[in-house]
Amino acid sequence: TLNHLRHVESLATLPSGAGRIPKLNAVILGESLASEEDDLVFPSDDFSRRAHIPSPQKYLEMYRRSIEDPAGFWSDIASQFYWKKRWGQPVYSENLDIRKGRIEIEWFKGGISNICYNCLDRNIELGNGEKIALFWEGNEPGTDGSLTYNQLLQRVCQLANYLKDVGVQKGDAVVIYLPMLMELPIAMLACARIGAVHSVVFAGFSAESLAQRIMDCKPKVVITCNAVRRGSKIIHLKDIVDAALAESAQNGFSVDVCLTYENHSALEKSKTKWQEGRDTWWQDVITKFPTTCDVEWVDAEDPLFLLYTSGSTGKPKGVLHTTGGYMVYTAATFKYAFDYKPSDVYWCTADCGWITGHSYVTYGPLLNAATVVVFEGAPNYPDSGRCWDIVDKYKVSIFYTAPTLVRSLMREGDEYVTRYSRKSLRVLGSVGEPINPSAWRWFFNLVGDSRCPISDTWWQTETGGFMITPLPGAWPQKPGSATFPFFGVQPVIVNEKGVEIEGECSGYLCVKSSWPGAFRTLYGDHERYETTYFSAFPGYYFSGDGCSRDKDGYYWLTGRVDDVINVSGHRIGTAEVESALVSHPQCAEAAVVGVEHEVKGQGIYAFVTLVEGVQYSEDLRKNLVSTVRKQIGAFAAPEKIHWAPGLPKTRSGKIMRRILRKIASRQLDELGDTSTLADPTVVDELIALADS
Ligand code: ATP
Ligand code: MG
Repeated sequence: TLNHLRHVESLATLPSGAGRIPKLNAVILGESLASEEDDLVFPSDDFSRRAHIPSPQKYLEMYRRSIEDPAGFWSDIASQFYWKKRWGQPVYSENLDIRKGRIEIEWFKGGISNICYNCLDRNIELGNGEKIALFWEGNEPGTDGSLTYNQLLQRVCQLANYLKDVGVQKGDAVVIYLPMLMELPIAMLACARIGAVHSVVFAGFSAESLAQRIMDCKPKVVITCNAVRRGSKIIHLKDIVDAALAESAQNGFSVDVCLTYENHSALEKSKTKWQEGRDTWWQDVITKFPTTCDVEWVDAEDPLFLLYTSGSTGKPKGVLHTTGGYMVYTAATFKYAFDYKPSDVYWCTADCGWITGHSYVTYGPLLNAATVVVFEGAPNYPDSGRCWDIVDKYKVSIFYTAPTLVRSLMREGDEYVTRYSRKSLRVLGSVGEPINPSAWRWFFNLVGDSRCPISDTWWQTETGGFMITPLPGAWPQKPGSATFPFFGVQPVIVNEKGVEIEGECSGYLCVKSSWPGAFRTLYGDHERYETTYFSAFPGYYFSGDGCSRDKDGYYWLTGRVDDVINVSGHRIGTAEVESALVSHPQCAEAAVVGVEHEVKGQGIYAFVTLVEGVQYSEDLRKNLVSTVRKQIGAFAAPEKIHWAPGLPKTRSGKIMRRILRKIASRQLDELGDTSTLADPTVVDELIALADS
């Protein structure tokens, strides 16, 4: 069963980090060719020495135990939390094999606890009451706020008392449709405190998407705010909620209570439309409730929340997470993958409307008593230096973001970054898509001054927490590789027949056994859970992503397997070709898809966005094609380069290749569900440019 360990054992033969500080500043963007995946980037000696996991050897020792004795390994971590009653035996039980019957995963069953208590009350008892829990930075520079752990607990209790007062009970759903105000994590924690199941809907979704989700989980209460400013735009959230509630009511489900926070910097109370009897102003009622509230003690396997996936590949799936395993897993992954220390100030740019905002804005950091920055605004407002302004203002030491943001800032030029000190930064992080090596280098060299390791964390809404991720300080990194599995995670690469393949290889990324943070079902549709994730390769959880493992055992995510392109028998992952294109100094972003080709079966069709100020030309086209030829090979050369001023992205910033495929093959009447697109107008723009 430890066959798998062989893939990470090569780590032990790597030289330790001591004395080997990377000189990557010398690497000029775009000049690093195919050999770049062999470059190792070492953490500094000083960083490693102070890290929780200072060496490959230490990782291997802990990893081995986590695989040989998962019950013991995770029980030790779980014991750091408060449990009203300790879990029973066995510590976990699982069936991931569809041939053996119903898919089931349970961790710490019988254990009685509460995640809100462990985030707040417990940390206050440990002496963190006066520590800042949340720094809040508003959309407009100069508007800000903060809450200590004591204050946060009081706010959470007031809201929890209100929710109980209007009839919310353990197991009831509450929909939260809020922007990044402190009230968003407060609302999540208040639900958790009373055992209610929150379902956060990203406050950028349309009334229709919101209505669908409301009709699906039937909440007792919807929590929202009247409006929000993002950049220079005002979004009237309450109007969207009104429309969604009307639609839901027409379909037979009425929400009785709509609690509305007055975000007066965006819109005055008097200008907000109101439905007497249903709508209540947050500020009018919440302060009347006591600042203490008893905890509802719940079983480790009681549901904590319901959250829909980003919808990159189709209709979003309602992922359900439970309490105990999720708590233990998000806390441990946060601590180790970011090498978190109590003196850190942590900022994750994700919205709480996504899993990243659940596990790594709210629960993971607060379980560790971290100080978290919550940012309401847009990263390019008032200009593209805003992130680094915020980093300097709060002395952010851990900065976690998405490749889409890195690429868009890279496109704007270096001055926006170098204008700020960024001295406080210690660790950087990336999530959401594969990070192209050239974007990785820019992030590392420029943003982090070649000083901060990058945790490129591969995981999913379904996995609850990090699955494959660097542990900064433990081993050298390779730009663009998510490196090695987290403790307790057994990734396997299988071929089309579902047979596990060894050593250096590429194929379908699966996981062999359960981990505490795994999702337990798709809400209301266990059958879809089983068919989507456990049927393709019986015996495994199938992620839907392609992956390769190199000679040193490093894992490289190659993109969604549905997006793999087959050119004359060569299977090509989207990430590889896109990274080659983005390594060209004038290409800011790229998305490739396969189109039918008479001879080759499929040909590569590339959409490219250029760096600010660059004009598209025939010369540039040739240059881009030859960059791919040189880096990957002639077989991967794009047939067509389609200039794209913007790319269709999900609201969480991922490229939606499914739509690009339709544009590439000119099947314009089959674009499918575009409801999760951030900006649907880019689609028309691309269509208009198709034959230019
Ligand atoms: P849907 O499942 O509805 O299509 P989604 O998969 O985009 O939406 P998420 O759960 O938010 O929804 O995203 C998880 C996916 O994001 C992964 O399966 C993977 O494709 C991609 N991903 C996340 N982090 C990384 C990473 N560090 N490297 C490569 N890919 C990543
Ligand atoms: Mg997915």
